[in-house]
Amino acid sequence: MSEQVKAVKGMNDILPPESARWEWFEHTVRALMRRYGYLGIRTPIVEPTPLFVRGLGEVTDIVEKEMYSFVDKLNGDPLTLRPEGTAGVVRAVVEHSMLYEGPKRLYYMGPMYRHERPQKGRYRQFHQVGVEALGFPGPDVDAEVILMVRSLFRDLGLADVRLELNSLGQPEERKAHRAALIAHFEASIEVLDDEAKRRLHSNPLRILDTKNPAMQALVEAAPKLMDFLGETSLAHLRGVQAALDAVGQPYSINTRLVRGMDYYNLTVFEWVTDRLGAQGTVCGGGRYDGLVEQLGGKPAPGIGWGLGVERVLALLEESGVTPPAVAPDVYAVVPDVAAVAVATATVEALRQAGVSVLMHAATKDGQGSFKSQFKKADASGARFALVFGADELAAGEVTVKSLRDAQASQQRQPLASVAAWGSSLLASSTNA
Ligand code: ATP
Ligand code: MG
Repeated sequence: MSEQVKAVKGMNDILPPESARWEWFEHTVRALMRRYGYLGIRTPIVEPTPLFVRGLGEVTDIVEKEMYSFVDKLNGDPLTLRPEGTAGVVRAVVEHSMLYEGPKRLYYMGPMYRHERPQKGRYRQFHQVGVEALGFPGPDVDAEVILMVRSLFRDLGLADVRLELNSLGQPEERKAHRAALIAHFEASIEVLDDEAKRRLHSNPLRILDTKNPAMQALVEAAPKLMDFLGETSLAHLRGVQAALDAVGQPYSINTRLVRGMDYYNLTVFEWVTDRLGAQGTVCGGGRYDGLVEQLGGKPAPGIGWGLGVERVLALLEESGVTPPAVAPDVYAVVPDVAAVAVATATVEALRQAGVSVLMHAATKDGQGSFKSQFKKADASGARFALVFGADELAAGEVTVKSLRDAQASQQRQPLASVAAWGSSLLASSTNA
C-alpha cells in the first residue's frame, strides 16, 4: 500500500451522519432567508489579494497574519482564499452595478480560510453564513438583520445566546476619541507597561484589552467612545434599541465591543454564548457605510453579519438539539437476482412519485440471503420493506411489510399500483 494522503491541518472532512446535521442547518437557513426576502449570492472562493487589503484594512488580524495568499503561477497575480464574505459580495455588487436597480438584501453560505492556530471552534477552513443589506441607511434594517439571527436560533431550537450591541460612531468621532485616549494615557505614562507604551500611538484602543492588574484603574477611567458620539450617531443607536425593545429582544450595550475589520461604523453587534468556552462568539456584524465607496462603487450604506457554522453546530450539540432523523421511506428487499430488473423499475416509479427508497444492492459477497437483507432493511430505519421474491414476481406483485408497526400484517400489492401506494404513503405522512 502507498502512503496515505491526509487532509490539511485545521481543515475538516464532514462525514455522515454529521453531514445530515449540516444539511438540516443549511435547509433551515435557506427557509429563514426566504422569510426575510434575502436572495442568494455566490462569489468565488479565490479573490485578488488587494480586495481584502483594501476592504478589511492593513492593520487587522486577518490581513496581517491570517490570509492564505499565493501567486498565480501563470500570470503572477496575487490571490487569496477568501477569509470572510463581505469584501467579495461588495466587490460583486459594485462590479455588476447591482445597486443601480435599488437596494439589495443578499445572503451567502460557504467556506472561509484563515491561517489560525486550530482548536475547538477555530479552524483554518471554516464555514460562514452571512447577510449583507446594501443601500439602506436607517436603523430599521440594522434591527432587521440582528433579528434574523434571533429567528435562526429559534428555528434551530437554540437558547442561551445573548446579544451585545455597541456603536462605533463615525470616523471623525473615533478620531476625537483616539486623541483623548492617547492624552489620557500620556498623562499617566508611568503606569503604562512596555507593551502599552508601544501601542500608545499605533493602536491605543488595544491598550483597553490589557490584562495587567496595575493598569486596570487607568483603563477603567479611560474616555469612552460612547461619550464622543454626536447626536446623529446616538439617534441611530436609539433607533436600533427601540426596534429591539419593540420585539422584546434583550441586549447589553458593550462599550468595549469593536470589530476586527476597519470598515465598520455605527452599529456593531455580536451574538455570544457562554457554552463554547473561549470561542463563544457565534455571530458578529455591523454597519459598513464606507466600504462600497472604498471598493470603487458609488457611495452606498451597508450592514451585515457573519455567523460561524461550526460554532452554531457545536452549540446545537452542546445543547442536545438533534436534527430530525433521516431514513428512507422504503427498503427494497431483493433476495433473487432474477427480480432485480422488476425491482429496479418499481423503485424508480416510487422515487418518481417522491418516495425515498433504498434498494438492496449486491456486495462482493453477492446478493445476500433474505434474512440478511431484512436485517439491513430494519437497520436502515425505513418504515416499510418491499419484498421482491420469486413468488411475488410470478404473481406480478410485491409484498409490503411495515417495519415500524409489529401489529400490521403484511400485504401483497400489484406491481402496477405500487406507485399509487407510495403516493398515499406520502400524503398520510404529511398529514401526521
Ligand atoms: P474571533 O474573535 O473568534 O477570531 P472574528 O472576529 O475573527 O472571531 P469574524 O471575522 O467576525 O470573527 O467572523 C464571524 C464569525 O465567524 C465569528 O463570530 C465566528 O463564529 C466565526 N469564525 C471566525 N473565525 C473562525 C475560525 N477560524 N474557525 C471557526 N469559526 C470562525
Ligand atoms: Mg479572528
